[in-house]
Amino acid sequence: MKNCLLLILFLITLALDAQNYCLVIHGGAGNITRQNTPDELIYRNALDTALSIGEHILKNGGSSLDAVEQVVRYLEDCPLFNAGKGAVLTEDGKVELDASIMDGKTLLAGAVAGVTDIKNPVTAARAVMEKTPHVMLVREGASAFARKVGLEIVPNEYFITKESRERYEKLKNADKKGTVGCVALDIHGNLAAATSTGGMMMKKYGRVGDSPIIGAGTYANNQTCAVSCTGHGEFFIRNSVAFHVHALMLYKQLSLKEATSFVIDSVLTPQKGTGGIIAVDKNGSYSWSFNTKGMFRAMVNANGQKIIEMFDNE
Ligand code: ASP
Repeated sequence: MKNCLLLILFLITLALDAQNYCLVIHGGAGNITRQNTPDELIYRNALDTALSIGEHILKNGGSSLDAVEQVVRYLEDCPLFNAGKGAVLTEDGKVELDASIMDGKTLLAGAVAGVTDIKNPVTAARAVMEKTPHVMLVREGASAFARKVGLEIVPNEYFITKESRERYEKLKNADKKGTVGCVALDIHGNLAAATSTGGMMMKKYGRVGDSPIIGAGTYANNQTCAVSCTGHGEFFIRNSVAFHVHALMLYKQLSLKEATSFVIDSVLTPQKGTGGIIAVDKNGSYSWSFNTKGMFRAMVNANGQKIIEMFDNE
């Protein structure tokens, strides 16, 4: 009898445990205030749709890798954000995109940088991870590879919207939109992270930021957490921000919240490096931290918790 009860208890715990998933997204950090976001509702709706795409996958037992890829694809196709369609323009008026993805279970990772014609750079990043022995392909090499594996190729003008062209013409740096990213824990206990961006507005031809660099803009490791970053990429590269969060948890036993806050408040802020981090840990706890006026961010988990925020102190 006692054994039977114990078995039932064990099965219940297993079932509850198995349902644990969590997904967090960002749509960039920057000068995002109520005042300069009149189209707030449109952004909230886009973040909500992105959450439901990811949650649908995780709820049905799909992998965190599929969830982060599909969510980032949606955000790349959405012209509101600085990734894929609607991305910011370079100094010479073109779009150059960077993206990466990492699997926390295998520690395999893939990235593309400086691509000008791949419709969904995050999917190209995943293909680099799964179909080559490499981590990163750049520019024409990445394009040739994407064509070869049958990914959708578009002309550079596809990425340029009326709004991104106007922003470029006005050189409104402060008005720049955000990079996109997604981190997830699936019900199998696997973590994944993905990030995609057009980079910094008016960047130099050939400049690559932190987003496609594993350990800087993106990192996932089942031992600790999955991380995606947004902000002034040069600071994120110099400080290995995403790996930094993982290392603080692994070697210093910091909690996820402590680790993300430490990197923002004690590493980036003193250097005047601006931006934000989203992260989820292996137990399904989530965290976000930023030192800008706002960050487009949202989360959903298996306990029915769902948050969509964009301003500071919401
Ligand atoms: N981190 C990106 C980059 O430096 C830009 C951003 O997140 O806004 O390329």
